Amino acid sequence: MDEVKEYCGVFGIYSPNTDVARLTYFGLFALQHRGQESAGIAVSDRRDIVCYKEMGLVSQVFNEKILNILKGDIAIGHVRYSTTGSSIEVNAQPILVSGEYPLAIAHNGNLVNTLELKRELDNEGIKVYGTSDSELMAKKLSLYYNGDIVSALLKVLPSFQGAYTLVILTKDKLIGVRDPYGIRPLVLGRFNGSYVLSSESCGLDIIGARFIREILPGEMVIIDESGIESIRFTEANPHLCIFELVYFARPDSKFGTRLVHEIRQEMGRILAKEAPADADLVIPVPDSGVPAAIGYSQQSGIPFSEGLIKNRYVGRTFIQPDQRLRELGVKLKLNPLKEVIEGKRIVLVDDSIVRGTTSSQIVNLLRESGAKEVHMRVSSPPITYPCFYGIDTAERKQLIAAYKSIEEVKEYIGSDTLKYLSVDGLLRACKGGSEGFCTACFTGKYCIEIPKAIKITKGILE
Ligand code: AMP
Repeated sequence: MDEVKEYCGVFGIYSPNTDVARLTYFGLFALQHRGQESAGIAVSDRRDIVCYKEMGLVSQVFNEKILNILKGDIAIGHVRYSTTGSSIEVNAQPILVSGEYPLAIAHNGNLVNTLELKRELDNEGIKVYGTSDSELMAKKLSLYYNGDIVSALLKVLPSFQGAYTLVILTKDKLIGVRDPYGIRPLVLGRFNGSYVLSSESCGLDIIGARFIREILPGEMVIIDESGIESIRFTEANPHLCIFELVYFARPDSKFGTRLVHEIRQEMGRILAKEAPADADLVIPVPDSGVPAAIGYSQQSGIPFSEGLIKNRYVGRTFIQPDQRLRELGVKLKLNPLKEVIEGKRIVLVDDSIVRGTTSSQIVNLLRESGAKEVHMRVSSPPITYPCFYGIDTAERKQLIAAYKSIEEVKEYIGSDTLKYLSVDGLLRACKGGSEGFCTACFTGKYCIEIPKAIKITKGILE
């Protein structure tokens, strides 16, 4: 079975007498940054569940006609990104399992025990069509679901190892689940006297729902006609993915009581203290480096300026599947403001360096535009380990900082200096944003044991 890495967005709404499919469409639209490969919505009208999903962006997949077919008052939705090889429609979500007790699930995260689950389902004679761990979860849940979804979940959840944030739809219930580590986020909102679930709070804002709180690690919430019930299905061991705060989440989303934009500015302020530079201008890599560059400028007193203008209609460079296209992507995306850059000593700020492609190209663009010096500052530590819990940070050998020293990375990207934020500085910046973080991509400390076979494929073990 192919190994599938995913980072996704999920959304769910329970709201009688409302066009829930349309609201889910808008929720997914706000979560589009979490996955651009496929989108889907499943709706229950209390008698049955209907699901529509396709490859493409939310605005390409849905139109008035399709939304009008999706009638009901409970819905879940999903946007998905996955790596090459698993970019097939059968892996799109939500996953609907039909039958006397139909259910649909949408998953964000990545399990580490998929082989075991697959074997179990094979033994039960249950066919699995796609290559995603989410399908395995849906099939296993359905195996135990005879009308009582809570007992079925209590039975199957302990067998899921890894990261899972789930929204589940039955004929009459909306359920939200976060794994005991809470690796991927999920928030609860209030809408029209009822409830909404969303990967990030920006999914609530877009439909005018009020943020209530985060679903806690190891918590399940059941939303139905009697209101909302919360069950702690296991002890929590909070390890929110810190990369959500570094890069992945939208800056206008909230974690705990803090806005991501504010947390990222703080990363920039701490970076300026840890890694000062003698320079004339602070320029961000748009859009990912903007909040940290503002923070860096505030702390250092070096003026902030835009220096690279982004074509707003080009997606994230990572959408391109191969290295050659990825390299072209940066040029398609950014145009330098020559008059601003010429003759200046520049602090270039980005949130992260993964393979080193983006920064080397941008440093080059700045040099071509006449920059006198380029001091690269990164608002997260060097990424030295791959992620197994749902962020596409590639195999270890593709991570430039895993096999090159900081000095060598500096040479590779061509900057005059290169400095990263420390792990301690990053944790300080995120304080109060949420409790407990997974920092595995920076430290190699994985909170959930990774099977040896997977470690070998990802280059952590020989
Ligand atoms: P790279 O060019 O491989 O060094 O990637 C670094 C750039 O990609 C930075 O500008 C980041 O903001 C962005 N980035 C970091 N992680 C990811 C990810 N998982 N998916 C897409 N883009 C990313």
